[in-house]
Amino acid sequence: MSEVSDEDFAEILSQTRRFVRSSVVPREAEILADDRVPDDLREQAKAMGLFGYAIPQQWGGLGLDLRQDVELAIELGYTSLAVRSMFGTNNGIAGQVLVGFGTEEQKSRWLAPIASGEVVASFALTEPGAGSNPAGLLTQALRDGSDWLITGQKRFITNAPTAELFIVFARTRPADDQGAGIAVFLVPADASGVVVSPKDAKMGQEGAWTADVGFTDVRVPDAALVGGSEDLGYRAALTSLARGRVHIAALAVGAAQRALDESVAYAATATQGSTPIGNFQLVQAMLADQQTGVLAGRAMVRDAARMWVADEDRRIAPSAAKLFCTEMAGKVADLAVQIHGGSGYMRGVPVERIYRDVRLLRLYEGTSEIQRLIIGSGLVKAAQRKA
Ligand SMILES: Cc1cc2nc3c(=O)[nH]c(=O)nc-3n(C[C@H](O)[C@H](O)[C@H](O)COP(=O)(O)OP(=O)(O)OC[C@H]3O[C@@H](n4cnc5c(N)ncnc54)[C@H](O)[C@@H]3O)c2cc1C
Repeated sequence: MSEVSDEDFAEILSQTRRFVRSSVVPREAEILADDRVPDDLREQAKAMGLFGYAIPQQWGGLGLDLRQDVELAIELGYTSLAVRSMFGTNNGIAGQVLVGFGTEEQKSRWLAPIASGEVVASFALTEPGAGSNPAGLLTQALRDGSDWLITGQKRFITNAPTAELFIVFARTRPADDQGAGIAVFLVPADASGVVVSPKDAKMGQEGAWTADVGFTDVRVPDAALVGGSEDLGYRAALTSLARGRVHIAALAVGAAQRALDESVAYAATATQGSTPIGNFQLVQAMLADQQTGVLAGRAMVRDAARMWVADEDRRIAPSAAKLFCTEMAGKVADLAVQIHGGSGYMRGVPVERIYRDVRLLRLYEGTSEIQRLIIGSGLVKAAQRKA
């Protein structure tokens, strides 16, 4: 059962839709040109509770469950994905580690400022050589009395340039029969030895920032060890990522819907030899493929979210939804550029931005290849357990 009634959720959803369509869509060109989400939009998002929509109400969040989260994500996917990214780590990969695995003390220290947006939390798992295979990470946490000393290098960390808190995955011992040897720590960004590099220059999603983060003998107390256990890190990462995959799938559906809407509007009005291009059946066929993809993706993501909330499937369905929806969004965006002809290749035309923005969705929180591996191996293992 969600903490939020259908009636209250309908209001949250319509406010979010209004925010996206009336406040953000008209500012897309500005976000792109400045590579920055304007401060007034950030403040509006804070005031609406968007930095903590998936954080339980007990800690000051809106308390949406994943079924509601995906509806919100479909709305947020409709515009520059940087806006969602600004509060994506607080609600998602970073925040959910604390919600699911933090001690009561850790939750009461951090979740309220995360939910209000006073604190931006980043999820620091990926390293050079440990992206698709996080079990290969090399960042080390060594015991030093009652403290830990953390040393290692993380890369592509979303929101690192604005983060106050890093959720850092580090190895406390080599992998063994007992587990992966990976723990997770809460590291304030101002701790001595934390260095955030200049932000990365990316292909798309202008306004969403990532950076390398270095840790050199960063001292944190035992109270910074999430869940108070050295053995939680790997499971916390995989659980948070699996949940995040359903959210990313929903975001892809929203972006695909926008690409479709832009395509239909263009096809209905742009002409060749005074005939609207939408009258050409080959253009109609492209619109039909886009529409079909959007409808299929939306149905799938809703089903995956339902199965997550019911605890029916928290492994295969999230990966299948992410795989299908992000690949679908890539195809829909590609068709959108095609329908726009040369205009679709020009900066400032929404489908050109969408084409670049959605490319990332197939890479992070597990590439499409990794989703296929999770789905395929999950099916085979389940059959082997039964045999
Ligand atoms: C903009 C952006 C934001 C990000 N934000 C974060 C963040 O906030 N926190 C964080 O921790 N990480 C973040 N990441 C990292 C992201 O999750 C990884 O980049 C991603 O998981 C892929 O890892 P990799 O880059 O090391 O590529 P690799 O793992 O080296 O993959 C390269 C290619 O090899 C394939 N491949 C790898 N292993 C296998 C295999 N076993 N079988 C078949 N094919 C395989 C991959 O599918 C891919 O095609 C972000 C990345 C980007 C680009």
